[in-house]
Amino acid sequence: MFKKILVANRGEIACRVMATAKKLGIRTVAVFSDADANAKHVAAADEAFRIGPAPVAESYLKIDKIIEACRQSGAQAVHPGYGFLSENPDFVEALEKAGITFIGPSAKSIRAMGLKDAAKALMEQAGVPVVPGYHGDNQDPAFLKDQAGEIGYPVLIKARAGGGGKGMRRVDDPQDFLDALSGAQREGEASFGDGRVLIEKYLTKPRHIEIQVFGDSHGNAVHLFERDCSLQRRHQKVIEEAPAPGMPDEMRKIMGDAAVKAAKAIDYSGAGTIEFIADVSEGLRADRFYFMEMNTRLQVEHPVTEMITGEDLVEWQIRVAFGETLPKSQDALAFSGWAFEARLYAEDAPKGFLPAIGTLDHLSLPEKSARVDSGVRAGDEITPFYDPMIAKIIVHGPTRDAALGKLLAALEATEVAGCVTNAGFLAALCRHKGFASGDVDTGLIDRDLEELVEEPSVPEDAVALAALAALGLTRPSSGNDPFETLAGWRIWSASRQFALLEIVGDRLDIEVRALGNRRFVVHLASGERTYTIVKVDDDTITYDCEGHRASAVVVNSGYGLAVFQNGHAFSIGLPDMLGSDDDATGAGDQVIAPMPGLVKVLSAVSGDTVSKDQPLVILEAMKMEHTLKAPRDGVIGDVFVAEGEQVTDGTVLLALVEEADAAA
Ligand code: ADP
Repeated sequence: MFKKILVANRGEIACRVMATAKKLGIRTVAVFSDADANAKHVAAADEAFRIGPAPVAESYLKIDKIIEACRQSGAQAVHPGYGFLSENPDFVEALEKAGITFIGPSAKSIRAMGLKDAAKALMEQAGVPVVPGYHGDNQDPAFLKDQAGEIGYPVLIKARAGGGGKGMRRVDDPQDFLDALSGAQREGEASFGDGRVLIEKYLTKPRHIEIQVFGDSHGNAVHLFERDCSLQRRHQKVIEEAPAPGMPDEMRKIMGDAAVKAAKAIDYSGAGTIEFIADVSEGLRADRFYFMEMNTRLQVEHPVTEMITGEDLVEWQIRVAFGETLPKSQDALAFSGWAFEARLYAEDAPKGFLPAIGTLDHLSLPEKSARVDSGVRAGDEITPFYDPMIAKIIVHGPTRDAALGKLLAALEATEVAGCVTNAGFLAALCRHKGFASGDVDTGLIDRDLEELVEEPSVPEDAVALAALAALGLTRPSSGNDPFETLAGWRIWSASRQFALLEIVGDRLDIEVRALGNRRFVVHLASGERTYTIVKVDDDTITYDCEGHRASAVVVNSGYGLAVFQNGHAFSIGLPDMLGSDDDATGAGDQVIAPMPGLVKVLSAVSGDTVSKDQPLVILEAMKMEHTLKAPRDGVIGDVFVAEGEQVTDGTVLLALVEEADAAA
């Protein structure tokens, strides 16, 4: 077996691969960019090499730097994870030349599947069903339009080099064809340097069902059943499951056989996924599934297959790369129960899934009730440089209902403060009736989007707890201090205090009166309520409100509070804290981001004369807006950011110059 391998990736997948390597007694080498110097994957490895600055083109995509790290460390093989260099045949060849094993397929297999049109042609030859359409060489717009007419609208134009949903256009009306074509070509050219397209029949009720395949270097190939990835948004997977709901055994066998045929057609070795699209307008039918593409790597959602089969796919990859035969034959493979995976992202679902960044001030993942694959720890930062994934939450149960129940419970137990997440959206999906009944298709999320991203209003208990916390009245009990029972109670004056809170853009001044013995009257919208703090355990506050006892987690995060209760997360701003910090945002000649966030409004351009305290930038973080003001009178010099840009903590946004300098 290999003695040492290098993982040419970051985040959760790098950690995931290293866990299996450790299990097999293999030493691990990490690579990292400057932004990742303190990342979890670096800490997880036996040794690590810096390979460049934060942007991926200067670090994780640098083939020579990675090979140099292999040389220096003596790593015998490289696991590429997914993304980055995982499907780059030039990387495979460069490793080969350097005498290092690539844990994945041959450069030839990757090339055969790299372009959607060539892959489809190859599959057609091998007798694998493909989506009806045109995938030939002729790229003349008028010819392509004729083809679209023959296929029959709606059609889907796809950049042949596409991936990640880029370069795809649905066309319903022949009139729109040429515009859509140039759009897809432009996107293909811009993203992949290849503007050539193919055209497919657009299926109106499709399911995305993919088959995990595995080959070895001895000519064997098997499949490890299917995954259903139909819950998608903008062609990106959101929740995946295995097996596929409603899949008849016979159809599973036909699809599995087709996938193995596809793998064998390209002498495939290693882990791969054959993605099929099934037309379910009349239910799942064995004569209505079509090859879409093959991913020649480990897939993000591979854990659901691991959960139902009990196999470790990374172990299989490493063994096969070392030259061993497949650990199991087709007949020896079986699955049981049901598995789901949800992708927890730093993104703002109600705001069109805007990627969010921030520092994970508080992170509590449901590790006790689920498998959690994560590349971050509390205190880590989600930066704009990489995919904003926080974790994959994976569950297994004896039945689909049981597994889905577990997924919802795990999501409800997920607590993240310091950056917005899609946890609420994922939980809403778990409660969706159609999804719960197994009636899935790729249009489900879009159809019910409004309802799925709806946020519950902040309940009064959360407001009350936030007010008490803001006033410092919820500190943990320190035992038998006799003065403690007087917390917040001032004998020499009226025991009234006010907490200034910002809730969904509204500022509220909440009056709190201390009664002693950790009892408080809080003035809420519905009237006065009496709260008793029963117990404080770290961040968990147990309280009693007029005979109703409950608990919530309240954490202080950056410029506000996060309250977690009943599976929901509420962000509550503390404008007082922000106000007092305004000075810190400008150091004389600069306006600096005091926290990671989104530049929402930029109200100055280079050359503008501004006066001290004039609002210049509105930064949005944790759903709250923070106004950054001019630190002094002056003229705006350089503007380093644009509206809509994500910035990290400490980024210089604007520079101020003296009036005389500006005139010069
Ligand atoms: P990419 O490589 O960019 O991810 P794919 O070809 O894998 O693109 O397609 C991504 C998703 O787009 C599929 O999972 C499916 O939801 C949708 N899709 C692809 N082809 C079709 C089609 N012919 N009809 C309807 N939807 C499609």
